[in-house]
Order: sequence, then structure tokens, then C-alpha cells
Amino acid sequence: MGDPLNAREDAAEALGMVARAAGPYLDALPHLPVRDATHAHLLKDLDGPLPEAGDGTIAAIADLLRIGTRAATHSSGPRFFHYVVGGATPAAQAADWVTSLLDQASGLWLTSPFAAQAETVVLRWLKEMFGLPASHGGVLTPSATFANLTGLACARFWWAGQHGVDVTVDGLVGLPRMPVFSSGYVHPSSRKALQLLGLGRDSVRTLTRDDAGRLDVDALDRELASSGPAVLIGNAGEVNGGDYDPLDELADLAERHGAWLHVDGAFGLFAALSPRTADLVRGVDRADSVAADGHKWLNVPYESGVAFVKDRSFLGRAFGGWNAPYLPEPDEEFVNYNNLGPESSRRARAIPIWATLRAYGREGHRAMVERHQDLALRLGRRIAEAPDLELLAPINLFIVCFRYRPPGLSEEALDDLNRRIGEELIEDGRVYAGTTVYRGMVAFRPAIVNWRTTDEDIDLLASVIRELGARLDRTP
Ligand SMILES: *Cc1c(COP(=O)(O)O)cnc(C)c1O
Repeated sequence: MGDPLNAREDAAEALGMVARAAGPYLDALPHLPVRDATHAHLLKDLDGPLPEAGDGTIAAIADLLRIGTRAATHSSGPRFFHYVVGGATPAAQAADWVTSLLDQASGLWLTSPFAAQAETVVLRWLKEMFGLPASHGGVLTPSATFANLTGLACARFWWAGQHGVDVTVDGLVGLPRMPVFSSGYVHPSSRKALQLLGLGRDSVRTLTRDDAGRLDVDALDRELASSGPAVLIGNAGEVNGGDYDPLDELADLAERHGAWLHVDGAFGLFAALSPRTADLVRGVDRADSVAADGHKWLNVPYESGVAFVKDRSFLGRAFGGWNAPYLPEPDEEFVNYNNLGPESSRRARAIPIWATLRAYGREGHRAMVERHQDLALRLGRRIAEAPDLELLAPINLFIVCFRYRPPGLSEEALDDLNRRIGEELIEDGRVYAGTTVYRGMVAFRPAIVNWRTTDEDIDLLASVIRELGARLDRTP
């Protein structure tokens, strides 16, 4: 077989094979176990020596479909509640195929005006959905980690400028440590961004007023009085209980002390879509930079994130300007998005976002946000009714923090039992949810962010945890 040039005729047939497999797979998805018990065996089929001549297009794709449709974690189905993992709406999923079909190099206007224009349009739509001023700059990123990196790179550029240094040109040499403050809700990806930026993971000081990690606003006020120019990280949606930092108060402090406010709204920014929850993100429009995810609550396929920056010039100053003679100069109208973010060559990830917003609009996505909150509240009712379940944090969004709690066990025994239920749950595979430690207690924290999830899936989650709990409680 060899040279793909000899396989020109196979391209459409291979795509047809994928399309024909898609129907049965998607029909089965709502009922498949999250992880098929045969997956470990199937993973072996991926292995083997590097092919010399190759099996040809059709054989390779047939094999991939055979293995993948069963070995894949069915996390895009309705029963995956671990971490915060969204699904893919029908329009977004199809558009993702279109993205692959068109295979655009979307870093430069010249290589794809289509992808660049789609990005400009979806950035405008997203700002409108989130209540951010139209004048904000923005760029699509592979994830919220990269969006935090993007926002914090702009913060770093600003902060170094306060010390008279152009960090893009000269780096951090000779500068003091950048002061960064947050609550206990700060996500590891913000620390990762700081570590990548040469600022150090532990440059964040967390100022908390309780064991859940809530922000101590007064302590922050005092710190800022003497810190010099500083960066604040506000957390719009924390992963254990779904709580929010008070963004309006953070914005007040940032204004009063001349600090940069970055908001990590990976999933939580979507609260802006519903009047029920919009109060949680009040003040986010005043932040200097904001990060969010597409592959979580927007329900577009991996990978998808977005960063917004109030003063759009910071994006170009933090990421552009490599001074290479073959690259174009920055331009406001014919935007080269690779000037505005951490990537150079990049996928046209605007396309699935465009499609899902075109297909379902602001209303459709608002309905999804509200349905997920309703499902979380339903789970809350199941927990309240069950004598052996205990809710640990108020439900404000789609995260439900609770534990299995039969009578008569010590805190230590409860932690151990819940940990064992967590391990067993993954092995069982009917539903997926992970454990965390919340206020010192081992707890479950399912996150309901998949458009496919229904009442039955939620009830199943509660009943499987109770079933496993009852069994493991008897067999310590
Ligand atoms: C998931 C998450 C991130 C990181 O997002 P990725 O898309 O996984 O990189 C950052 N912050 C919060 C609050 C998150 O939930």
C-alpha cells in the first residue's frame, strides 16, 4: 500500500465509514456503560510494531472504529459526572468533522480568512452571551488552562510594565517576584500557567476565611495596601462545590489598589446565560482578563477554550512581535490570531462554536444551563430523601457535593468508605463520578454538564452510589 498518494480514492470512503459508524454509536451512547469492561483487552490491539508497508486506509480505519467505539471512555454520553467534562452538541460535533474536512491553518488571515473571520464572529457572540463589553479583545485557545495562561501572560506584561520592563523583549531578569493573590478556590491550572510563565507556582498567596477556602476580602485589602502592583485571580466556579469568589468586590479592590484582575471562569462564566444564576458572575465585565472553556459547559468537542482581555492591545504585546521577516504585521481587520495567543499553527476551533451557537442560539444554551441546574437540584432532593446520603455544600450550579453516610461510623471510617465507593464506582462503570476532599471530608462531587443527561441518569447515579455503599459498608 504505502504512499498515501496511491490512496486518493479512499478518502471519501473512509469518511463514509466513520459516518456509518456514527449512527449506531450515538444511538447506543446513552445506554453504554461509561467504560466498557473489555476496554483493557482492546487497548492491546492498538499496539504492535511500526507498520512497514501499512494496511491501507480502509483496513486502518475499520480497525480504529472497531477498537475506538468500544475502548473509548464514553465520556460524551450522559453518565460521566467525573471532573467537569462536557459533551458535544449535534451541531458542534458535525462542525468538528467539517473542521477536519477543511483542515484550515487558522493562525494567519492569509492561510484562512474563513477561519479568522469565524473566530472574530464567535468571539463577538461569546462576549455578548457572557455580558462582556464588545471592546474586549479575545482569542480562542485549546483549553481553559491555555486561557488562564493567556490572561496571566497579559497580566505579567502589564505588571512588568509597571516596573519599567518590556517582558516580551527582556523577560523577568532583575524584576522582583510578581505578587499574586487568590482565594482557596484557585484552580491548579492557574498555578500551572504561573509556573510556565516563570513566575512560580507558589507565587499565589491564598487568603481564606474558612476551611472551604472562601476569600478573606479584608485580608486582601490589607495585603494590597503594601504589595505594590499585584495580580488577583478571581475564581468564577470552584470545582468542589461550585462556589464563586465575589467578583464585584475583587473588581473594587483591583480598582482601588491599581491591581490586575484575572477571572478563571472555565465553566462558571456560563452562569451569565441565565437570570437565575447571572448574579454569581456580577462584576466579571470589570475584570482585566477572563478565561473560559468551550469543551465544558458550551458542549463543543475537545479542544476548546477562550480568553478575553479588556485592553485588547495586551494580547498582541504579550504574544506578538517576534520580528520574523516572513510573518505579517498585526492588523485590526485581517486578524492573525497567532499574534494574540500562545499558539502558532492552530486548529480552526471557531467552527464548532459557530455551529452550536448558530444551531441553538443564546436561548438553547440558556435552556441547557438551567436544565443542568435543575438536574443538580433533583440530585439534591434524592440525597435529602436518602437516609444514607449527606449533602455537604449548597447547590448553586451543576456540582453536587455529598457523601455516603450510614449511621454509626467515625469520620475516619466514613472517609475510608467513600474512598472505596469511589474506586468501586469507576470499576463498575455504569456511572462515573470522582471523590475529592471537601472541608476535610472525602466526598463525591458529580458535575452535570452534558446536554444528553436526563432525570433517569441522575437517579441512577444516586442509586448506584447507595448500592455500592451498602455493599462495601458490610465488607470493610
Ligand atoms: C477545568 C478547569 C480549568 C482548566 O481547564 P482545561 O480546559 O482542563 O484546561 C481551569 N479552571 C477551572 C475552574 C476548571 O474547572
